[in-house]
Amino acid sequence: MFDIKKYYEANTLDEALNYLWQEENPIIISGGTDVLVKARDRKENYTSMTLVGITRIPELSDIYLDEEENLVIGSANTFTTIENNDLVKKYAPLLSYAVSTVGGPQTRNVGTIGGNICNGATSADSAPTLFAYNATLEIKGKNGVRNIPITEFYKGPGKVELSNDEILVKIKIAKKDYEGYKGHYTKFAQREALDIANLSCAVLIKENNNIIKDIRICFGVAGPTPIRMKNAEIYAKEKEISEEVLSEIGKKCLLDAVTRDSWRASKEYRDHLVTILPVRNIRTALGGAK
Ligand SMILES: Cc1cc2nc3c(=O)[nH]c(=O)nc-3n(C[C@H](O)[C@H](O)[C@H](O)COP(=O)(O)OP(=O)(O)OC[C@H]3O[C@@H](n4cnc5c(N)ncnc54)[C@H](O)[C@@H]3O)c2cc1C
Repeated sequence: MFDIKKYYEANTLDEALNYLWQEENPIIISGGTDVLVKARDRKENYTSMTLVGITRIPELSDIYLDEEENLVIGSANTFTTIENNDLVKKYAPLLSYAVSTVGGPQTRNVGTIGGNICNGATSADSAPTLFAYNATLEIKGKNGVRNIPITEFYKGPGKVELSNDEILVKIKIAKKDYEGYKGHYTKFAQREALDIANLSCAVLIKENNNIIKDIRICFGVAGPTPIRMKNAEIYAKEKEISEEVLSEIGKKCLLDAVTRDSWRASKEYRDHLVTILPVRNIRTALGGAK
């Protein structure tokens, strides 16, 4: 069924990096929920494959607060682990919720956050939330370690800033980016479960006495990559929350959205959702009708 030439199971990061450097066109496999689907369909580059398994590498499964109380999540953690992890639930509850909306239990039990980010899909359920948290990615390769904001990692549909011999090691959310924020995520899909988003929206908001101190809004499927709604974010800062302001935030999101028609939904419908979902998310995040 699968055309696999070689399979390496790495026990350490260095071992995995060595396999990646020594082999021609190696493919990292984590949970395999994307890789094996492509392999089954005999997609280009997914025949005669050399696979490098990374799920036994201990540091890829860590979840901890570092000395500055930044939240650090190893890339090979499954959605189920992240959803139920106490640190994630306490410091980044929006992420815990967002990953609970992925596929069904089988997919969540094996699919990983690293695979979700590295496949470059605009519909990835972890992405809008991680964009809203201003997450940083720690990547290790031949030339050492580099850190890149997730907002700069996505380059186009299925394209990310990662070379063949690099591994996404950690996803980091800085204390200043989670502390004091409330949020909500909406995955707008045809069905309640087991579906890919028609559009998805994450909002994180910091408010004081009904004044918006900061807001971060990110959409998935409103463009070729997840997109932060900069015009709406800038407009909303220091505004008093009112129906008029909320409605204007929704309208301003259209300035950054690059929606299109697809068999899942029309551009017109998606644009309508772009104006509505952030408003609903803000209301839910703030716990009622503001
Ligand atoms: C039935 C089904 C339902 C699904 N539903 C959803 C859904 O609702 N929402 C959603 O967002 N996704 C969904 N997916 C897609 C998929 O489950 C996710 O994208 C998942 O997160 C992929 O993780 P993985 O560990 O299985 O990745 P893999 O298949 O192992 O890898 C995916 C890609 O990332 C690369 N990669 C993986 N880990 C690393 C790393 N640490 N460093 C560098 N490169 C890496 C691989 O080389 C590959 O290119 C679904 C898939 C299936 C089969």
